[in-house]
Amino acid sequence: MAEHAVVIAGGGPAGMMLAAESALAKVDVAVVERRPDHVLVGSRAGGFHSRTIEVLDQRGVADRFLAEGQVAQAAMLATTVLDMSDFPTRHPYSLGIWQNQIERIMAAWIAELPVRIYFGCEVTGFAQDGTGVDVELSDGQSLRARYLVGCDGGRSVIRKAAGIEFPGWDPTKSNLIAEVEVTEEPPRGIRHDTTGVHGLQRLEDGRTVRVVVTEQQLGPSSEPTLRDLSEALIAVYGTDFGIHSPTWISRFTDMTRQAAAYRVGRVLLAGDSAHVHYPAGGQGLSLGVQDAVNLGWKLAQVVNGTSPESLLDTYQDERHPIAARALQHTMAQGALQRRDERIQALVDVVSELASMDEPRKRLAGIISGLDIHYDLGEGHPLLGRRMPDLDLVTADGPLRVFELLHDARPVLLNLGEPGGFDITPWADRVQLIDASYKGEWELPVLGAVTAPTAVLIRPDGYVAWVGDRTRLGLPEALTTWFGPPAAA
Ligand SMILES: Cc1cc2nc3c(=O)[nH]c(=O)nc-3n(C[C@H](O)[C@H](O)[C@H](O)COP(=O)(O)OP(=O)(O)OC[C@H]3O[C@@H](n4cnc5c(N)ncnc54)[C@H](O)[C@@H]3O)c2cc1C
Repeated sequence: MAEHAVVIAGGGPAGMMLAAESALAKVDVAVVERRPDHVLVGSRAGGFHSRTIEVLDQRGVADRFLAEGQVAQAAMLATTVLDMSDFPTRHPYSLGIWQNQIERIMAAWIAELPVRIYFGCEVTGFAQDGTGVDVELSDGQSLRARYLVGCDGGRSVIRKAAGIEFPGWDPTKSNLIAEVEVTEEPPRGIRHDTTGVHGLQRLEDGRTVRVVVTEQQLGPSSEPTLRDLSEALIAVYGTDFGIHSPTWISRFTDMTRQAAAYRVGRVLLAGDSAHVHYPAGGQGLSLGVQDAVNLGWKLAQVVNGTSPESLLDTYQDERHPIAARALQHTMAQGALQRRDERIQALVDVVSELASMDEPRKRLAGIISGLDIHYDLGEGHPLLGRRMPDLDLVTADGPLRVFELLHDARPVLLNLGEPGGFDITPWADRVQLIDASYKGEWELPVLGAVTAPTAVLIRPDGYVAWVGDRTRLGLPEALTTWFGPPAAA
């Protein structure tokens, strides 16, 4: 039986990100993916938001995605675009890029890293004991892992086999999504009516049209057909535009559910396996990628014996509330898409509110993920928030903060007197960087904050400790997040 420290079920965006994070942390990691290769049929998600671009930037790969996508102010509520171009980030925008492109770029990235991938194979179940997990595969083989992570999507076999509850809301509406050819030119733009939202969009090849249409009644769980699509289009537009030659037809709903637990013993969940929702607002892929970035370094430290298993509890503590909030927002957005005259009145009120400065910033902060605040206790506003990508000056020249995170290692950034810190007992794990920074400290949504003299940055880019003139709490923060001090 082949053995790996971490086995990931599912090589979608969450699984690939977790594989990259694990490999960067020098963990022996394998991905089991049902598809025969990384190719995703259909375009699926249309991009991601600012904080996800930032986390990819923290690993030095954001440019690969930016080169293929289109930046835009794409975060919306009702009819208002939540412009975030004044947010203090290098990426004050969303990125329009299809999921099949995202997955191709991610697959090329993890191919550069020591990640083992078992393609064309499904995880069918598992059995865990005190020291590891036996992972059963569809080809009759099994793998032995210290930890198993289910990144196997909304219908997660891992979640079900682990007996994890998936409470939430049953679907009330369904959409068909497809890529087809047409004989009649479809109308431009998005249409709303009492069933929901509809739209047809010609793709870059000039031939394929991407269709999203809300069905008149909630559709069945079986695979939709070209006939279903034709009927749904005729009900809305009075014509099916002569659709033919489909390359992809799928159905999604507004089912909204979240796993009650993100971990049972040695088995964890990330991405859609832990939360599903209507894709309004385009947050699903971003949530999964950020789950992976939160979990990867923690799991690596537990596997490497640097930190106790209790560090894994902080994964659910931090990520569950973030997804719960996204679920609430997508339900609100889904409700605003069904337009009769009364809901249109609500849309108008919400749109007006969302265009005011304070609500715009708050809402853009949520959708972009830039306002994420993990509860790490009382203290400086930076504590538990994302470290800004400042332009630093070091003895070796200029440096961006995010460059320090490329290897997914923690950093103690000393912005005070050079040589003022001694963290020898953690020197094997934590980089100590003396630097200076002369600019303003400004956080998205919150605005200006007082300049700290030092910050302890976790590998996921969140601030674990903030220094003023004292060092109070630093050894405790280092121990909490990066394990006990090494013996002298
Ligand atoms: C129409 C539509 C539009 C969307 N638009 C957006 C958007 O604009 N922005 C956004 O952020 N999100 C969007 N989403 C949501 C986004 O697509 C998902 O949230 C995202 O793909 C979740 O990633 P994941 O890695 O968690 O799961 P998935 O992408 O579902 O990946 C799961 C992987 O696991 C594999 N797998 C499944 N079961 C097994 C098994 N038992 N063993 C081995 N492998 C298995 C699958 O083949 C798949 O590769 C959209 C979704 C839809 C349907």
